[in-house]
Amino acid sequence: MEQAFFKKITQFYEQLESDLIQVEENVCKACQCSECCSIVAKGGEHSVSSMELDYIENYYQETGYPQGNINLFKEYLSRKKDTAGEILHPICPFFSKQNFQCSIYSARPLSCRLFGSYFIEGFQVPSRCYFNTIGKIVKKDEFIKEIPFAVAFSELKAEHLGAQKITLPLSPELHQNPEYLSFFDSSDPYLKGRKNLQDGKITKALEHYQETIVKNPKQSFIPCCISLDLIQAQQYAEAAAYGEKAVTLSPENAFYHFVLAIAYQLSGKIEKAIESYQESLKLNPENEAAKTTLNSLLQSS
Ligand code: SF4
Ligand code: SF4
Repeated sequence: MEQAFFKKITQFYEQLESDLIQVEENVCKACQCSECCSIVAKGGEHSVSSMELDYIENYYQETGYPQGNINLFKEYLSRKKDTAGEILHPICPFFSKQNFQCSIYSARPLSCRLFGSYFIEGFQVPSRCYFNTIGKIVKKDEFIKEIPFAVAFSELKAEHLGAQKITLPLSPELHQNPEYLSFFDSSDPYLKGRKNLQDGKITKALEHYQETIVKNPKQSFIPCCISLDLIQAQQYAEAAAYGEKAVTLSPENAFYHFVLAIAYQLSGKIEKAIESYQESLKLNPENEAAKTTLNSLLQSS
């Protein structure tokens, strides 16, 4: 990943911090419970995206931390057990018992940052937690609506997914990446649209896709996801129309331009495809698939 992208994540975290409940100095050190950093081992959820794992790894490179710890963190998140069947990491490996603090505090994931300010309904907040009666309870399905910066975070995740090594045609793995589906609550019409499309019911799918756009008019990752679905389903003209919506909402997102370029290319609009590949490369010069495809389009046009 490019440093410019990591800087965007840093800026996002900085903005986020100013919106969250500020902790009284040393409140956690004083109580010494560390419940929040052992949630996974106790069966709780702790969702960390691949973007955040990359961000933490980059933090290592900048600070010189030992690289291996990220693997321990992944083991913690997956509740890995030892040969005797015991949880390998009863507490997050980044938690320093000596200092009673997170050793990657400035790079810690979103879910760690939200702890205390927001709790998913049903989560058993430790009774001795300072935030027990302060944090806002949010329904899991309404997380993206309730938490104002969840949308901005999803857009960053979309950009990160799109900056992965991309091959053309788009691989089913990219399209089926569960992180895309994590952008939607279970009642969102997008999921119905996707299901109808998979069942070959194009008209019905387009109706649901339109519903989700009306419901979430400012969330640019939604038209991008729809565009990807439609590319997979070989509905290229509609894919281009949704790609245009995504680009209009977030013109600085290289991935959206890339998806639009593919949709244009496959729908035969080669000049527009060239322009979109060029725009995408301006924003992310490391996209090898965009470079190769653009060169071949320029040579044959
Ligand atoms: S990353 Fe840091 S804040 Fe998050 S669970 Fe681990 S030690 Fe706690
Ligand atoms: S559970 Fe609450 S009080 Fe305990 S360390 Fe975490 S945030 Fe602090």
